[in-house]
Amino acid sequence: GQNFLQRRIAVMGYPCVGKSSITMRFVFGTFPDAYDTTIEDFHEKSHKFNGKNYKLKITDTAGQQEYSLFPRSVTLDIDGYVMVYAINDRKSFEILSTIYDKIVENVGENIPILIVGNKQDLQHSSRTVSQAEGQKLAQKWNAVFMESSAKDNDNKDVIKIFDTILRSIEISKGNISAE
Ligand code: GDP
Ligand code: MG
Repeated sequence: GQNFLQRRIAVMGYPCVGKSSITMRFVFGTFPDAYDTTIEDFHEKSHKFNGKNYKLKITDTAGQQEYSLFPRSVTLDIDGYVMVYAINDRKSFEILSTIYDKIVENVGENIPILIVGNKQDLQHSSRTVSQAEGQKLAQKWNAVFMESSAKDNDNKDVIKIFDTILRSIEISKGNISAE
């Protein structure tokens, strides 16, 4: 049957951290070679999680800077946020706090959030944000944290990203229990 559960997820973060790469790899299974990073894009993806069929509606945002306004598309009916920074870009990590404040202002504190430190494949050459810092921020916000690479040659990390935010969403809806 067509028993899809619909969930809306917005992918947020500073420009150039890999929001589109994560989204495209999850939706199409490939790492995009060249992609316009500045546009907001909308995708639907069927996804099986915890034995159930979901239709994920994913907003790949254009990216946020200090004074960016939030379009309604990223505050209306969003079930959970994936907040991405790049582990080699401190600015992208710091700006998450500004984005977080705006999310709280618009939708409240209890919204599921996954913080993702992306570009983990660059950790030996150019890391400037430690894993502990990401973890600490997640604790502060009662969010979940992971690092990822959208570039590495399989889809494991990006699938984990969407499984993880979906899990938080289902816990917040009382559909599965947090252990
Ligand atoms: P967005 O502006 O956040 O949507 O970022 P994009 O997905 O367009 O990616 C910006 C740049 O970072 C592009 O050149 C990507 O190829 C690159 N990029 C994205 N994810 C990764 C990653 O995990 N590792 C590395 N090394 N580069 C990445
Ligand atoms: Mg983009």
